[in-house]
Amino acid sequence: MGISEVNPLPAHYRCLNCQYSEFKDEDGKEYGATYSSGYDLPDKVCPKCGKPLKKDGQDMPFATFLGFNADKVPDIDLNFSDLNQASAHEYTKVLFGVDNVYRAGTIGTVADKTAYGFVRGYFEDKGIMNKNSCEIERLAQGCIGCKRTTGQHPGGIVVIPDYMEVSDFTPFQFPADDPTSAWRTTHFDYHSIEECVLKLDILGHSDPTQLRLIQDLSHTNVQDVPLDDKDTMSIFSSTKVLGVTNEQIMCPTGTLGIPEFGTNFTIGMVDEIKPTHFAELVKIAGLSHGTDVWLGNAQELIKNNVVPFSEVIGCRDDIMVYLIYHGLKPIKAFKIMEFVRKGKASKDPDTWKEHRQTMEEAGIEPWFIDSCEKIKYMFPKAHAAAYVTSAFRIAWYKVHMPAYFYASWFSTKATDFDIDTMIRGYDTIKERLIDIKNKGFDATNKEEGISESLNVALEMAARGIKVAPFDLYKSKALTFGVLDDNTIIPSFVTIDGLGETVAKNIEEEASKHPFISIEDFQTRCKVSQTLIDKMRAMGIFNGMNETSQLSLF
Ligand SMILES: [Zn+2]
Repeated sequence: MGISEVNPLPAHYRCLNCQYSEFKDEDGKEYGATYSSGYDLPDKVCPKCGKPLKKDGQDMPFATFLGFNADKVPDIDLNFSDLNQASAHEYTKVLFGVDNVYRAGTIGTVADKTAYGFVRGYFEDKGIMNKNSCEIERLAQGCIGCKRTTGQHPGGIVVIPDYMEVSDFTPFQFPADDPTSAWRTTHFDYHSIEECVLKLDILGHSDPTQLRLIQDLSHTNVQDVPLDDKDTMSIFSSTKVLGVTNEQIMCPTGTLGIPEFGTNFTIGMVDEIKPTHFAELVKIAGLSHGTDVWLGNAQELIKNNVVPFSEVIGCRDDIMVYLIYHGLKPIKAFKIMEFVRKGKASKDPDTWKEHRQTMEEAGIEPWFIDSCEKIKYMFPKAHAAAYVTSAFRIAWYKVHMPAYFYASWFSTKATDFDIDTMIRGYDTIKERLIDIKNKGFDATNKEEGISESLNVALEMAARGIKVAPFDLYKSKALTFGVLDDNTIIPSFVTIDGLGETVAKNIEEEASKHPFISIEDFQTRCKVSQTLIDKMRAMGIFNGMNETSQLSLF
């Protein structure tokens, strides 16, 4: 229907030329029974017109979105570039009217440590010394959970239908009592009203920012990336296609810097599973966002060879789809999925006993039922498929147009830089990385951030891509540039202590006319003496006069 980029139908072929479609093979077996993602289907040409068929479908039952009888309040999540989130929020006022949209309010409560501090502080202030810790603990228990402050959900917009008033549901307020604030929030915590009104989640995400930058730098269209590319898929099980060894890049997979697959936890999962299909990537994303789905559950099943990875439960939709393919009535399969995904199997033993019996009678294997019982929270497949699609596109650039991948990663994902080290190249980067690693828990947050970006820089250097020194006229304020296939150039904002405003000044002034001296640069760009000294030490002003005074003789 064009609502979403993710096609929710079961795996299928369709012809973009003559509209032919195919959901079953010659023997009448549904492709969905074998392939949980259409991108994994083998290539095929259209039997009607001979054109290559499009492979599509992520197999998500309608009921997971709107409920079995279309009676569920749908969870609508829209991910925007974090640079555009505010204007996307603002646009809901145009769509629905300014009095029909409110930021979803939250209520922050007193946590146990804070409560304990309150009680201790009270006694200290009053000079009461003879209270034992049990009494302090008892009084603290009474404070825990009381309202402390109000806040707002990072992306939630509550929509009031036009035939009702906001006050039919909740009072509203300005956040932090600021009547000039652009948004009003619901006074009640949105969890208390979420069953009654629609909430749009309009979230800011860095993947769209990164993809847009890649597109702008490379003049290619990220939507043209083939989602069945074999070389891209191979980085999830090997670093071979990147032309480096695991030792060289100090990482067991080729997924450093790939969203959803680049943290230590997910790199560990990828290393263990060695996925070779898109469906497996979707499942890994589902597993890593769930609670008690991977650790102590699916991980054990695979380790003990009970079932292969392709069968374990990864997303909530997997439960419904699996049960239907194994003969359960769709409504029953839906009810069990809803029960399990909310982690109710461990909280409501009576209902669980009924569901267990239904599954046993249908011949569902014991491992599946046990696995359901352990689950506390499960991710929806629609989210997982959308995130993995972005991740796969980014991974394609990492394999095929690496300079653009690295330039965009440093521009949108990295938080801290040791840019001098990055410019010096592989050996220096490796030394610094080992240096930080050896500090263990003594490493500061900044050093942790630097270590993260140096890990990616090390891989980049191992692949023969260099970071060029700063250039007053080629470097940009906030984003890295690509000089050629093997060279990227850093942004001014990566210089330690140089903020966004000054970085933008430099880019703007450089585009007007050349700097005639360091003095001229300092005045026009409003740069502090400390920064000038730092930049001079980095060799950025090499060959430039100190002052603007011309010698006439
Ligand atoms: Zn055709």
